Amino acid sequence: MTNHSHNEHHTCCFIIPPDILTRLAESSDRATRSGAIDSLELSARMRGRREALMGIAVSMAVAAGTKRRTVYDAQNARSLPGKLIRGEGDARSKDTAVNEAYDGAGKTYDFFSKIYARNSIDNRGMRLDSTVHFGRGYQNAFWDGQQMVYGDGDGEIFNRFTRSLDVIGHELTHGVTEYEAGLVYEDQPGALNEHFSDVFGSLVKQYARKQTAAKADWLIGVGLFTKHVNGTAIRSMKAPGTAYDDPQIGKDPQPDHMKKFVKTTSDHGGVHINSGIPNKAFYEAAIRLGGNAWEKAGKIWYETLCNRLNARSNFQDCANATHDVARQLYGLDSVEQRAIREAWEAVGLKISTTRGR
Ligand SMILES: [Zn+2]
Repeated sequence: MTNHSHNEHHTCCFIIPPDILTRLAESSDRATRSGAIDSLELSARMRGRREALMGIAVSMAVAAGTKRRTVYDAQNARSLPGKLIRGEGDARSKDTAVNEAYDGAGKTYDFFSKIYARNSIDNRGMRLDSTVHFGRGYQNAFWDGQQMVYGDGDGEIFNRFTRSLDVIGHELTHGVTEYEAGLVYEDQPGALNEHFSDVFGSLVKQYARKQTAAKADWLIGVGLFTKHVNGTAIRSMKAPGTAYDDPQIGKDPQPDHMKKFVKTTSDHGGVHINSGIPNKAFYEAAIRLGGNAWEKAGKIWYETLCNRLNARSNFQDCANATHDVARQLYGLDSVEQRAIREAWEAVGLKISTTRGR
């Protein structure tokens, strides 16, 4: 584990990137337009709140080694956390969003615990808090540095955000990254931050469904778009750039190769865009390694996130680190290490090492 204070990093983690909301804010449909403007404005305000809370966000850890979840209802208001509805071990609620948030947090906890022996987000049993029904028709979900927050969606473009298990896993993994590598949320380190959330978000889903790498859909956010949108998901790790193509929200902008790397100042330097490149590399690695992606590929990436990267690591650093972790776990020139090298080469990154590895 790297030795840094997690609260010096302003990790903010909205699942819907600003380019989609900006596009919707220009929609000819009045309701869609006002909903998107509202979500953008609120997102900016939540960033301010998070920064204000940074100083006190450290003391959430508890000694307990068991899963502890709480789900709150914001009742369409915007104050957090809202009214407590369901605590750990409580009976199911009549509210689907409450149960989805509770179950999704539980599946994410179980995945990290059983597969990587990690005790919650901070590895010290941190309580997993979620708030549902945040705002009215709010078109996003996010991790605010302390808890998960889910909007209901507007029903026109987006469904409720608790529907998608990989989105829940994605957001909670932002918490893990904050406590481990602490990747800053801009440019290549920010795209890696997004990448690790997609990797473990997808693996939480694959593990829950008992799917091999070959059987998995490798999609992030299936079911978030309504039927009115021409798109299957928000992102595809298998085929970045193909998740949606729609007159209202535009086309999926993700590149799948370094030669298509997008230089932009929006979206914190394209953190939700260029993450397509390492996402594709992870998919290529998992397919080459075969079997369940969380076993070999996931283990290599988890070790890399926890012990090899720092706040400013870039794609090349990540490629080199995963390659060296593969040597550490499986041996020099093992099939596993070769698979990792080939996976990064497939996206235009050649492994460079100082020790001839
Ligand atoms: Zn994210």
